[in-house]
Amino acid sequence: MEKTGGVENINVSADGITGEYAPEPLEEQVPRTRGSGLGALREAPEMSHSQHNQVVREGKLASVHSWELVTAVDGPGTRLTLFLSGCPLRCQYCHNPDTFQMRSGHAVTLNDVFKLVKRYRAIFKVTGGGLTISGGEALMQVNFVRNLLRRCHQEGIHTCLDTSGFLGANLADADLKNLDLVLLDVKSGDEATYHEVTGRPLVPTITFGDRLAEAKVPVWVRFVLVPGLTDDPENIAKVAQIARRWPNLERLEILPFHQMARDKWENLGLNYQLADTPVPTKDQVEAAKNIMREQGIQQVFSS
Ligand code: SF4
Repeated sequence: MEKTGGVENINVSADGITGEYAPEPLEEQVPRTRGSGLGALREAPEMSHSQHNQVVREGKLASVHSWELVTAVDGPGTRLTLFLSGCPLRCQYCHNPDTFQMRSGHAVTLNDVFKLVKRYRAIFKVTGGGLTISGGEALMQVNFVRNLLRRCHQEGIHTCLDTSGFLGANLADADLKNLDLVLLDVKSGDEATYHEVTGRPLVPTITFGDRLAEAKVPVWVRFVLVPGLTDDPENIAKVAQIARRWPNLERLEILPFHQMARDKWENLGLNYQLADTPVPTKDQVEAAKNIMREQGIQQVFSS
């Protein structure tokens, strides 16, 4: 992947999937990884089961799916997006079903992730970017997330969490101070539809959003528009009504459903229920944006 971040003389080439990356040289040689998703990150050394549990509890080790460097997605500027493994939701349209199970990720230390993030500081500074922690559901590994957010925040690196909010209660109020932005997925405004889409209740997401509002943490709400599943006008209006509770809302993004994850579902032997679902037309996306605007949300974007 080749990104310029819109800035002359800064060529960023990084991709946690293929392992191709070419920023400034590492201070020390890092062994190639075993997995396919770690790029410059290495797997943690072998350790006993009890040692492993201990460092996980201390938030010094996480199950990582992959990372990548992106621009204009996952927050402002050029972002290092870290995908953690494990998710308690089962969204019908999930484009990362290979992150469902925590055990399928790679064990990586906090120090190694932090070192990787710091390598991109100059790019973050120039582009207004930073770290985005995503998943899966990152808050399944809350101790690791807490430590990483704190360390980055102390270093002045912009921090962003991409979450469904379902496990928002795992974060303490003190943790919220280390967050510069939250991408909060409101997967449906209607409770029954939310449950149909994710297999989980909607309320924890709203509760977490309320806490973010109280703590004045900027929020971008994201909503995936799926024809026949989430596109009922009433459901869309309810998403907007939830989002407008929050004065810290900076924008609302409508993400049109796509079929790019179909192969992943099939290769994992999982039941993909949206195989015959069409992607939304431009008119459908525009109609959804208009419903949001009618509900009083002006900063509505779509990808
Ligand atoms: S919350 Fe995200 S990672 Fe989890 S199932 Fe839904 S879309 Fe997939």
